[in-house]
Amino acid sequence: MPKKPASGSRKKFLARVREHLEQMKEKILAEMDQANRSEREGLKDEGMDTYDLASEERDREISFILSDRERAKIGSIEDALARIADGSYGVCESCGLEIGEERLEALPFTRLCRDCQQDMEREARTQRRAEDDRAGYRKFGSTEADEENS
Ligand SMILES: [Zn+2]
Repeated sequence: MPKKPASGSRKKFLARVREHLEQMKEKILAEMDQANRSEREGLKDEGMDTYDLASEERDREISFILSDRERAKIGSIEDALARIADGSYGVCESCGLEIGEERLEALPFTRLCRDCQQDMEREARTQRRAEDDRAGYRKFGSTEADEENS
């Protein structure tokens, strides 16, 4: 089967992905908002009103912790949206071929096609093994240092 160039159906597919990503982002923002609001209400219920300053500080801390993971997710979404806008979305960063639509639907943030991902994972496994070997030596070395210190 001849490989078809970037076609209208690909464009339609990307528009669908963009819509999906925007919905994801909105949902996360709404959830973050909800979580922050209920945190604040919870603190009020505990009678924190007299410690306005302290509780405000606490609020900030809590919303920071809550939103850390969500912020990372939103970062990925915005990154993908930017790549859709500049046309680099759905193109493998390693080999430059279009990533399959099924794969993009399952992994909307992926930057690699299946083949390159598999290559990377193979490489990472090999690297991890090498690192484990080195860590083993380090451990052995540090035991000696600990004994010297005690
Ligand atoms: Zn590739």
